[in-house]
Amino acid sequence: MTEKSWIEEKYKDIEYNLKTIREEIAKAAALSGRSEKDIDFMAVTKTVDEMFINHAIDCGITLIGENKVQEMLRKKPNLHLDGVRKNLIGHLQSNKASQIVGEVDMIESVDSLKIAREISKQALKKGIVQDVLVEVNIGREESKTGIMPECVEDLLGQMGECTGLRVCGLMAIPPICDNTTELCKFFENMYNMYVDIGSKKLDNVYMNVLSMGMSGDFSEAIRSGANHIRVGSKIFGPRIY
Ligand SMILES: *Cc1c(COP(=O)(O)O)cnc(C)c1O
Repeated sequence: MTEKSWIEEKYKDIEYNLKTIREEIAKAAALSGRSEKDIDFMAVTKTVDEMFINHAIDCGITLIGENKVQEMLRKKPNLHLDGVRKNLIGHLQSNKASQIVGEVDMIESVDSLKIAREISKQALKKGIVQDVLVEVNIGREESKTGIMPECVEDLLGQMGECTGLRVCGLMAIPPICDNTTELCKFFENMYNMYVDIGSKKLDNVYMNVLSMGMSGDFSEAIRSGANHIRVGSKIFGPRIY
Protein backbone atom coordinates (compact mmCIF):
# COMPACT_ATOMS: atom_id res chain seq x y z
CA MET A 1 0.00 0.00 0.00
CA THR A 2 1.24 3.49 -0.69
CA GLU A 3 1.76 5.91 2.16
CA LYS A 4 -1.18 7.98 1.01
CA SER A 5 -3.66 5.13 0.76
CA TRP A 6 -2.58 3.82 4.15
CA ILE A 7 -3.41 7.19 5.70
CA GLU A 8 -6.74 7.33 3.85
CA GLU A 9 -7.62 3.88 5.20
CA LYS A 10 -6.76 4.93 8.71
CA TYR A 11 -8.91 8.07 8.39
CA LYS A 12 -11.84 5.90 7.31
CA ASP A 13 -11.27 3.54 10.25
CA ILE A 14 -11.33 6.47 12.65
CA GLU A 15 -14.59 7.75 11.13
CA TYR A 16 -16.18 4.31 11.35
CA ASN A 17 -14.95 3.73 14.92
CA LEU A 18 -16.25 7.10 16.12
CA LYS A 19 -19.65 6.40 14.60
CA THR A 20 -19.85 2.97 16.26
CA ILE A 21 -18.72 4.30 19.63
CA ARG A 22 -21.22 7.17 19.51
CA GLU A 23 -24.01 4.67 18.86
CA GLU A 24 -22.89 2.60 21.86
CA ILE A 25 -22.68 5.71 24.03
CA ALA A 26 -26.22 6.68 23.07
CA LYS A 27 -27.49 3.18 23.86
CA ALA A 28 -25.78 2.99 27.25
CA ALA A 29 -26.84 6.53 28.15
CA ALA A 30 -30.47 5.71 27.32
CA LEU A 31 -30.27 2.61 29.53
CA SER A 32 -29.31 4.85 32.44
CA GLY A 33 -32.00 7.44 31.71
CA ARG A 34 -29.74 9.94 30.01
CA SER A 35 -28.79 11.00 26.51
CA GLU A 36 -25.59 10.94 24.47
CA LYS A 37 -25.17 14.64 25.25
CA ASP A 38 -24.81 13.89 28.95
CA ILE A 39 -21.65 11.88 28.31
CA ASP A 40 -18.36 13.69 27.76
CA PHE A 41 -16.49 11.54 25.23
CA MET A 42 -12.69 11.86 25.41
CA ALA A 43 -10.36 10.60 22.70
CA VAL A 44 -7.22 9.29 24.39
CA THR A 45 -4.40 10.21 22.05
CA LYS A 46 -1.25 8.77 23.62
CA THR A 47 1.16 7.42 20.96
CA VAL A 48 -1.21 8.66 18.22
CA ASP A 49 0.21 10.82 15.44
CA GLU A 50 -1.06 14.38 15.27
CA MET A 51 -2.64 13.96 11.81
CA PHE A 52 -4.93 11.26 13.15
CA ILE A 53 -5.79 13.27 16.25
CA ASN A 54 -6.68 16.21 14.00
CA HIS A 55 -8.84 13.92 11.91
CA ALA A 56 -10.76 12.82 15.00
CA ILE A 57 -11.21 16.49 15.87
CA ASP A 58 -12.51 17.14 12.36
CA CYS A 59 -14.99 14.34 13.02
CA GLY A 60 -16.36 16.14 16.07
CA ILE A 61 -14.10 15.17 19.00
CA THR A 62 -14.03 18.07 21.49
CA LEU A 63 -11.99 16.51 24.31
CA ILE A 64 -8.61 14.79 24.11
CA GLY A 65 -6.46 13.15 26.78
CA GLU A 66 -2.75 12.45 27.04
CA ASN A 67 -0.86 10.48 29.69
CA LYS A 68 2.45 12.20 29.60
CA VAL A 69 3.35 15.83 30.15
CA GLN A 70 6.11 15.82 27.55
CA GLU A 71 3.97 14.19 24.87
CA MET A 72 1.10 16.60 25.49
CA LEU A 73 3.36 19.64 25.24
CA ARG A 74 5.12 18.34 22.14
CA LYS A 75 1.92 17.65 20.21
CA LYS A 76 -0.09 20.67 21.33
CA PRO A 77 1.25 23.17 18.75
CA ASN A 78 0.42 20.75 15.91
CA LEU A 79 -3.20 20.16 16.90
CA HIS A 80 -6.31 21.99 15.73
CA LEU A 81 -7.42 22.78 19.24
CA ASP A 82 -10.01 25.47 18.56
CA GLY A 83 -12.95 24.54 20.79
CA VAL A 84 -11.20 21.36 21.95
CA ARG A 85 -10.42 20.70 25.61
CA LYS A 86 -7.32 18.75 26.55
CA ASN A 87 -6.79 16.85 29.78
CA LEU A 88 -3.87 15.11 31.41
CA ILE A 89 -4.91 11.61 32.44
CA GLY A 90 -1.59 10.01 33.43
CA HIS A 91 0.23 10.14 36.75
CA LEU A 92 1.82 13.51 37.44
CA GLN A 93 5.11 13.94 39.29
CA SER A 94 5.57 17.06 41.39
CA ASN A 95 8.60 18.18 39.41
CA LYS A 96 6.52 18.29 36.21
CA ALA A 97 3.60 20.24 37.68
CA SER A 98 4.99 23.64 36.72
CA GLN A 99 5.14 22.57 33.06
CA ILE A 100 1.59 21.31 32.76
CA VAL A 101 -0.47 23.58 35.04
CA GLY A 102 -2.39 26.01 32.84
CA GLU A 103 -1.51 24.05 29.69
CA VAL A 104 -4.41 21.64 30.09
CA ASP A 105 -8.07 22.14 30.91
CA MET A 106 -8.04 19.46 33.57
CA ILE A 107 -5.60 17.19 35.40
CA GLU A 108 -7.52 13.97 36.05
CA SER A 109 -4.89 12.15 38.08
CA VAL A 110 -4.44 13.91 41.44
CA ASP A 111 -3.86 11.22 44.05
CA SER A 112 -2.05 12.86 46.97
CA LEU A 113 -2.06 16.05 48.97
CA LYS A 114 1.53 16.59 47.91
CA ILE A 115 0.70 16.78 44.20
CA ALA A 116 -2.47 18.78 44.91
CA ARG A 117 -0.45 21.38 46.82
CA GLU A 118 2.13 21.58 44.07
CA ILE A 119 -0.52 22.07 41.36
CA SER A 120 -2.22 24.71 43.49
CA LYS A 121 1.06 26.52 44.10
CA GLN A 122 1.94 26.58 40.40
CA ALA A 123 -1.56 27.73 39.45
CA LEU A 124 -1.48 30.60 41.94
CA LYS A 125 1.88 31.61 40.53
CA LYS A 126 0.34 31.74 37.05
CA GLY A 127 -2.77 33.50 38.33
CA ILE A 128 -5.17 30.76 37.27
CA VAL A 129 -7.37 28.10 38.84
CA GLN A 130 -6.56 24.59 37.63
CA ASP A 131 -9.46 22.13 37.34
CA VAL A 132 -8.61 18.64 38.61
CA LEU A 133 -10.12 15.25 39.33
CA VAL A 134 -9.04 12.95 42.14
CA GLU A 135 -7.96 9.53 40.90
CA VAL A 136 -9.23 6.65 43.03
CA ASN A 137 -7.56 3.24 43.16
CA ILE A 138 -10.94 1.56 43.26
CA GLY A 139 -9.57 -1.99 43.16
CA ARG A 140 -6.95 -1.25 45.86
CA GLU A 141 -4.25 -2.58 43.53
CA GLU A 142 -0.60 -2.28 44.62
CA SER A 143 0.52 -1.77 41.04
CA LYS A 144 -1.77 1.16 40.36
CA THR A 145 -1.74 4.87 41.04
CA GLY A 146 -4.72 6.59 42.62
CA ILE A 147 -5.68 7.12 46.24
CA MET A 148 -7.26 4.30 48.27
CA PRO A 149 -11.07 4.59 48.40
CA GLU A 150 -11.20 5.00 52.19
CA CYS A 151 -8.84 8.00 52.00
CA VAL A 152 -10.70 9.96 49.31
CA GLU A 153 -12.88 12.01 51.62
CA ASP A 154 -9.95 13.05 53.83
CA LEU A 155 -7.93 14.10 50.82
CA LEU A 156 -10.83 16.13 49.44
CA GLY A 157 -11.25 17.79 52.82
CA GLN A 158 -7.60 18.77 52.85
CA MET A 159 -7.76 20.01 49.26
CA GLY A 160 -10.11 22.75 50.44
CA GLU A 161 -6.98 24.71 51.33
CA CYS A 162 -5.58 24.40 47.78
CA THR A 163 -7.10 27.57 46.41
CA GLY A 164 -5.19 27.35 43.12
CA LEU A 165 -7.22 24.33 42.07
CA ARG A 166 -10.83 23.28 41.86
CA VAL A 167 -11.89 19.66 42.36
CA CYS A 168 -14.43 18.79 39.68
CA GLY A 169 -14.95 15.10 40.44
CA LEU A 170 -13.38 11.65 40.46
CA MET A 171 -11.52 9.40 38.03
CA ALA A 172 -10.87 5.65 38.21
CA ILE A 173 -9.52 2.67 36.30
CA PRO A 174 -11.03 -0.58 37.59
CA PRO A 175 -9.01 -3.81 37.88
CA ILE A 176 -9.16 -6.38 35.11
CA CYS A 177 -12.25 -8.44 35.90
CA ASP A 178 -13.40 -11.92 34.93
CA ASN A 179 -16.96 -10.86 34.29
CA THR A 180 -19.25 -7.88 33.87
CA THR A 181 -20.90 -8.30 37.27
CA GLU A 182 -17.58 -7.96 39.05
CA LEU A 183 -16.57 -5.01 36.84
CA CYS A 184 -19.85 -3.17 37.41
CA LYS A 185 -19.42 -3.54 41.19
CA PHE A 186 -16.30 -1.38 40.95
CA PHE A 187 -18.03 1.18 38.74
CA GLU A 188 -21.04 1.27 41.07
CA ASN A 189 -18.80 1.73 44.11
CA MET A 190 -17.28 4.71 42.36
CA TYR A 191 -20.68 6.13 41.50
CA ASN A 192 -21.85 5.78 45.10
CA MET A 193 -18.72 7.51 46.36
CA TYR A 194 -19.24 10.29 43.81
CA VAL A 195 -22.83 10.85 44.94
CA ASP A 196 -22.08 10.50 48.69
CA ILE A 197 -19.17 12.88 48.72
CA GLY A 198 -20.93 15.26 46.37
CA SER A 199 -23.81 15.57 48.83
CA LYS A 200 -21.40 16.72 51.56
CA LYS A 201 -20.68 20.02 49.82
CA LEU A 202 -17.03 20.18 50.81
CA ASP A 203 -15.18 23.45 50.28
CA ASN A 204 -13.71 23.74 46.80
CA VAL A 205 -15.24 20.43 45.69
CA TYR A 206 -17.71 20.44 42.80
CA MET A 207 -18.68 16.85 42.11
CA ASN A 208 -19.88 16.92 38.54
CA VAL A 209 -17.41 14.76 36.64
CA LEU A 210 -17.20 10.99 37.06
CA SER A 211 -14.48 9.84 34.67
CA MET A 212 -14.46 6.09 34.10
CA GLY A 213 -14.76 3.67 31.20
CA MET A 214 -12.21 2.93 28.46
CA SER A 215 -12.31 1.06 25.12
CA GLY A 216 -13.31 -2.28 26.62
CA ASP A 217 -15.78 -1.15 29.23
CA PHE A 218 -17.24 2.30 28.51
CA SER A 219 -20.78 0.96 28.05
CA GLU A 220 -20.73 -0.67 31.49
CA ALA A 221 -19.23 2.49 32.99
CA ILE A 222 -21.95 4.69 31.51
CA ARG A 223 -24.67 2.33 32.65
CA SER A 224 -23.17 2.53 36.15
CA GLY A 225 -23.25 6.34 36.15
CA ALA A 226 -20.10 7.63 34.44
CA ASN A 227 -20.55 10.93 32.62
CA HIS A 228 -17.03 11.16 31.19
CA ILE A 229 -15.33 8.30 29.32
CA ARG A 230 -11.78 7.95 28.03
CA VAL A 231 -11.45 5.92 24.84
CA GLY A 232 -8.20 5.34 22.96
CA SER A 233 -7.55 2.12 21.06
CA LYS A 234 -11.17 1.68 20.02
CA ILE A 235 -10.84 4.93 18.03
CA PHE A 236 -7.28 4.83 16.78
CA GLY A 237 -6.46 1.10 16.79
CA PRO A 238 -3.84 -0.71 18.87
CA ARG A 239 -1.07 1.51 20.23
CA ILE A 240 2.40 1.06 18.78
CA TYR A 241 5.05 2.04 21.31
C1 LIG B 1 -4.65 4.73 27.80
C2 LIG B 1 -5.66 5.19 28.75
C3 LIG B 1 -7.02 5.15 28.43
C4 LIG B 1 -7.57 4.59 27.12
O1 LIG B 1 -7.35 3.23 27.05
P1 LIG B 1 -7.99 2.36 25.84
O2 LIG B 1 -8.16 1.02 26.43
O3 LIG B 1 -7.04 2.42 24.72
O4 LIG B 1 -9.28 2.98 25.51
C5 LIG B 1 -7.92 5.66 29.35
N1 LIG B 1 -7.52 6.17 30.54
C6 LIG B 1 -6.23 6.22 30.89
C7 LIG B 1 -5.86 6.80 32.20
C8 LIG B 1 -5.27 5.72 30.01
O5 LIG B 1 -3.98 5.75 30.37
